Amino acid sequence: ILKGQGSGPLPPLLQQYVELRDAYPDYLLLFQVGDFYEAFGEDAERLSRALGITLTHKTSKDFTTPMAGIPIRSADSHLERLLKMGFRVGLAEQTEPVEAAEGLVRREVTQLLTPGTLTRENLLRPDANYLAAIATGEGYGVVFLEVSTGEFRGVVLYSKSALYDELFRNRPAEVLLAPELYANEAFREEFQRRFPLMVSSGSFDPQGARSALVQQFGMLPSGLDHPALERAAGAVLAYARTTQAGALPQVRGFARYDPSAYMQLSETTLRTLEVYDPSPVGSYLPVGEERTLMGVLGLTRTAPGRRLLKAWLRQPLLDEGPIQARLDAVEALVRDSVLREAVRRLLYRIHDLERLAARLAAGRSNARDLAALARSLGLLPELQGQLLACEPLRVLAERLPLLAEVVERISAALVEEPPLKITEGGLIKDGFDATLDAHRERAEAGRSWIAGLEAAERSRTGIPSLKVGYNQVMGYYLEVTRPYYAQVPSDWRIVATLKDRQRYTRPDLREKEREILLAEEAGRKREYEVFQELREELSGQAERVREAALVLAELDVYATLAEVAARHGYTRPRFSPDRLFIRAGRHPVVERHLEGRFIANDLEMGPEARLLILTGPNMSGKSTYLRQTALIALLGQIGSFVPAEEAVLPIFDRIYTRIGAADDIAGGRSTFMVEMEELAQILQGATARSLVLLDEIGRGTSTYDGLSLAWAASEYLHDRIKALTLFATHYFELTALPETLPAARNYHVAAREEVGGLVFYHQVLPGPASKSYGLEVARLAGLPPEVLGRAGQLLAGLEARRDDWSQALAEELLALDLTRLTPLEALLKLQQLRERLYPVMVSEAAD
Ligand code: ADP
Repeated sequence: ILKGQGSGPLPPLLQQYVELRDAYPDYLLLFQVGDFYEAFGEDAERLSRALGITLTHKTSKDFTTPMAGIPIRSADSHLERLLKMGFRVGLAEQTEPVEAAEGLVRREVTQLLTPGTLTRENLLRPDANYLAAIATGEGYGVVFLEVSTGEFRGVVLYSKSALYDELFRNRPAEVLLAPELYANEAFREEFQRRFPLMVSSGSFDPQGARSALVQQFGMLPSGLDHPALERAAGAVLAYARTTQAGALPQVRGFARYDPSAYMQLSETTLRTLEVYDPSPVGSYLPVGEERTLMGVLGLTRTAPGRRLLKAWLRQPLLDEGPIQARLDAVEALVRDSVLREAVRRLLYRIHDLERLAARLAAGRSNARDLAALARSLGLLPELQGQLLACEPLRVLAERLPLLAEVVERISAALVEEPPLKITEGGLIKDGFDATLDAHRERAEAGRSWIAGLEAAERSRTGIPSLKVGYNQVMGYYLEVTRPYYAQVPSDWRIVATLKDRQRYTRPDLREKEREILLAEEAGRKREYEVFQELREELSGQAERVREAALVLAELDVYATLAEVAARHGYTRPRFSPDRLFIRAGRHPVVERHLEGRFIANDLEMGPEARLLILTGPNMSGKSTYLRQTALIALLGQIGSFVPAEEAVLPIFDRIYTRIGAADDIAGGRSTFMVEMEELAQILQGATARSLVLLDEIGRGTSTYDGLSLAWAASEYLHDRIKALTLFATHYFELTALPETLPAARNYHVAAREEVGGLVFYHQVLPGPASKSYGLEVARLAGLPPEVLGRAGQLLAGLEARRDDWSQALAEELLALDLTRLTPLEALLKLQQLRERLYPVMVSEAAD
């Protein structure tokens, strides 16, 4: 390991390093030497390569080995990078003062860092940081643990796509795979491609899992009566416990949840709607979170509020009652802007109580944590008073524990602004602890004796320049300048001679100094004890602090949604079982970036109009219109106001999207294949209560393939599924659909040709678009006139042919019995159609 060179035995320091390192083979061990974390040997080489830091050598009499290190002062940014690169890091720190050590300083591994189990404050983002575990057996058992807050929950899923969607929604930072999955190379490879996270296996055996759970909760918690779920839960606990020095007191219970209790949002939908991440395609907006729904809504004032908002966005509700209750709270805060401002101002001053509660439970709070806790909790009575005055927020106010005793305890004990270190004194107020006060008085008495010494000795010796001083090396001394050396009493002993002055000491001064030091030392010890007692005593309140945190998080989300609604003119949606009506709807993100230039649009759908065919040139705003409809529905179901003047919404069970045609390059699938897989999922999963958005199906294949597929899919959605469907397309043939499908309607996005190009109005109007603007867009883009002219000729020819073909196709398709066709037969049929048509296309192009 050390790649050492030399003959002698290992020097003691390296001996100690090797022992600690061997105890944690899965971790990159960083070994504290004074102000640095060092690695030696092979690990030094890895460290230096990973961070691009200098590799040096540790050389002793007859041994030399590579060495690399990072300064402890700036360790966090390095640690963060190492974790991102997939290292687990162990910190071996000096656990006794160097002066106190006899021989080698004692070192112990004090922290184990992995991406999914972080509690180190500086490495944590406000967002949730989940460790996930997955096991199989009657489905997939998936468990999420948030070590920094104690959140612990799980779900059983029955398909791989449901599994992937759930993981995508929750964004774990690290995943444990049960051995049956870990050893399955095909699974692991696919998994890693989708989720480039740190993945490892863990202890998933049923016996071990059960004992990990019993150890944590004293018994098997309810909700875990499923073998795969139980194994995953046990594995997560066991792994997290290793990294947290064996204990996770902040984890108080397990919650099993049911995905069918929420709107099911797939990874594709979350991505195309750009809920959390900006999409890499169609990036007409600036990059970053501001390009997402979360970016528009993300005005939360607290970290727990931000985490809760993200959770709501991935779990829109399905029952109107709870949605209306949320809307009531939001509306109250929209209407009362004074209250909203007051609430938001107070929330702004409240720290991350959820994480503070977890640290309190785990006995890891420092004095600053407790001070922050007291400051935050101290604001609760005022906050509660505000809420009680507002009827819809009353319930929230009543659920809020005030924890006045905690505030009192902390304020009585701790100084206002305690130091970071809890072992060096300066934490505890005078008058809180009699023993501590006695130590302080002794130290103070000594110091005032010394302070009085200067005046007393000046008058006794007649030396006017006499001074009492202090420094680290020699402690207290008496100082006399050269002209008065002769007047110095004989019992003073010289301790230092400087250019023009001398420093002396005396036995009684030495004695006083010793007394002060002892009293100070005893005081510091006592302060630490008092602090520990306080922390211990308060740890019993951690659960209630967490409750307060959760109430505040909810309040924060309401106030945030209200703030967004008020700033941007959103309206409260109403709900209706089968009507979708939006007046002057806007895209919440795009409108932010167009600053007033966004054109609002209406939409009306229902049983009599459930398939909407939207035509219009490229860049006219079709996909924006589709997305805004979905976003309005999504916002409504999390209990938010929506960007429209009026909105009546059905409660959708799912939102499906097939928008954009990004090649799955990493996955190696063609655009067309991705499209068809997404379409297949929609046609298999959508119900009459779903919202389906389709944009440009069949782009990735030949025109006629695409057109016939689009046609057939539209019919299937219209006749069989009856989902509300918005279909944006540049196939003008599809505008004939309403002729045969009674609940299909044509709409188009208006544009007008003017001299020199095309003018977009971004206005959605009834009826089909009048013609294809493809060539106009090409003109706008600056294609040479010669190419444009030739394309015009070709278009005319193709259109003539196409009309004939459309007729034939329509007849043939109408003759198909879609209820009997398997997908394979459908594909074969398409293949036939294409083969028949291909020669026509080729000969035409040759004309
Ligand atoms: P399409 O899907 O028809 O190709 P997009 O929806 O991608 O078009 O929109 C193209 C451009 O038009 C976008 O850059 C967007 O900023 C702008 N746009 C879309 N809808 C509107 C609107 N309602 N008001 C103003 N600008 C819009």
